[in-house]
Amino acid sequence: MYGFEYQRPASRDTAKAAATGADTRYLAGGQSLIQAMRLRLSQSARLVDLGGVADLKAITADASGVTIGAMATHAAVASNADVKRLLPALAELAGGIGDPMVRNMGTLGGSIANADPAACYPAGVLALNATIHTDRRTIAADAFFTGLYETALQPGELITAVTFPAAQKAAYIKYKQPASRFALIGVFVAQTAGGVRVAVTGAKAAVFRAKAIEDALTKAFTADAAKAVKMPTDDINSDLHGSAEYRAAMISVMASRAVAAALAR
Ligand SMILES: Cc1cc2nc3c(=O)[nH]c(=O)nc-3n(C[C@H](O)[C@H](O)[C@H](O)COP(=O)(O)OP(=O)(O)OC[C@H]3O[C@@H](n4cnc5c(N)ncnc54)[C@H](O)[C@@H]3O)c2cc1C
Repeated sequence: MYGFEYQRPASRDTAKAAATGADTRYLAGGQSLIQAMRLRLSQSARLVDLGGVADLKAITADASGVTIGAMATHAAVASNADVKRLLPALAELAGGIGDPMVRNMGTLGGSIANADPAACYPAGVLALNATIHTDRRTIAADAFFTGLYETALQPGELITAVTFPAAQKAAYIKYKQPASRFALIGVFVAQTAGGVRVAVTGAKAAVFRAKAIEDALTKAFTADAAKAVKMPTDDINSDLHGSAEYRAAMISVMASRAVAAALAR
């Protein structure tokens, strides 16, 4: 690990003021960033630890959905009564991330800013048509994830919260990579106010919507309809954990299981 300055401000304004310069990064739970720095895959001159900014941890709800602070941990989301009532699929997604240490340290903001291609939260954000709030603007989920570990965030832009509209029916099913518990393939299916949305993680460089499955589920919201879709292998990841053909087939299988889970609620 290379040397760096460390600051732990107590307010958003102080955090934003400290986050100047191209080599400055926000630190959430450190679950990705610290590991990358230890391996010298990432270098920062200054880390601005958001752990002291209490209002970034808030979770609020009304009938239309939930707004979750960027620093809410996965464990906090998984156990929150409003999230469990309004968006049980999201609570289950958070409760299925990694292991207890990761869930107690990792955060919503850190997960989506990191945009790991196999992370779970990006699928929930995209399928539920969430809105990402930053210190500068709001960003629609469809415009947020732009590539491998890439997002629409600008340098120094701070995610403050994410608003998830309540869905009529939703579920997330992942086929876990057994060592890391990241998604080998994860599919989040949601019946939203704007129609059926299906987001897939673990399959490509970034999370994406599976239009063919969305179209099939718009005609018939059944597990069989999802399973019958043959996903193309274009741009699908292929590695020692699974070929592109295997992953493409698993997208339809996980989607069908997600539909079955959504219908069983
Ligand atoms: C062993 C292990 C297993 C895991 N398993 C899973 C899994 O099954 N599913 C899954 O989805 N994830 C998994 N993760 C990832 C985990 O969910 C973390 O959320 C993720 O690593 C991000 O960590 P963090 O929140 O601590 O953010 P950090 O590591 O602190 O930060 C990550 C990045 O986000 C930036 N950032 C953080 N907060 C903000 C903000 N508010 N605004 C702007 N930028 C910000 C940082 O600058 C950094 O670039 C796993 C991680 C580990 C170590």
